[in-house]
Amino acid sequence: MNLDERALEIAKILKKEYPDPKTELVHKNEYELAVAVMLSAQTTDKKVNQVTTALFKKYPSWEELSSADISEVQSLIREVNFHKGKADRLIKAARIVLEEFGGELPRDIENLIKIPGVARKSANVITQELWEIAEGIVVDTHVTRVSNRLGLTKEKDAKKIEKDLMKIIPKSFWRNFSGSTVLHGRYICTARKPKCGECVLNEVCPSAELGLSPVQG
Ligand code: SF4
Repeated sequence: MNLDERALEIAKILKKEYPDPKTELVHKNEYELAVAVMLSAQTTDKKVNQVTTALFKKYPSWEELSSADISEVQSLIREVNFHKGKADRLIKAARIVLEEFGGELPRDIENLIKIPGVARKSANVITQELWEIAEGIVVDTHVTRVSNRLGLTKEKDAKKIEKDLMKIIPKSFWRNFSGSTVLHGRYICTARKPKCGECVLNEVCPSAELGLSPVQG
């Protein structure tokens, strides 16, 4: 099997295992998802979910958030990493969404990344979760690790990894591959003890063949 064939096989197996992967960030609408995604940079989804209930109660939309007091926002999100910078960017983001985009999130990456706090990875998550639009592939810490172990890339930089993956994963799989690889990395191909023994990809994974810390049971 060459690399393209193996990438397609991996994408198909992941789609079968995770037919409709969804973000684990709790949200009820576009505003809440965008804010949660911004907060999730270098923070676990679990931690973000712990602070957003109170945050969304106090600031239920871009309007309220745009005129928020920064110290109050900082205090509400203090449990997440880099909370001071994130509080500042959230308020600025709310103002940009209102002033530049008429209160609606733009549906393309080029414009989404103009919003403070929204980098390419976040923009990919937002378009894929909200509108099922996949302009690229989400590359977070899990996708970085799993893609390297699967031999789909040798890169460590997210932009380069995304480029590599976009070349070998067919576009029709981008959305599923993004969500499924995040979940696979979170629960099976974990950083310290990948569960190769119960992994659906172990027959197409060079790291399993090399016996990378397989865990039984
Ligand atoms: S076989 Fe092991 S290393 Fe390969 S993807 Fe599965 S859990 Fe990860």
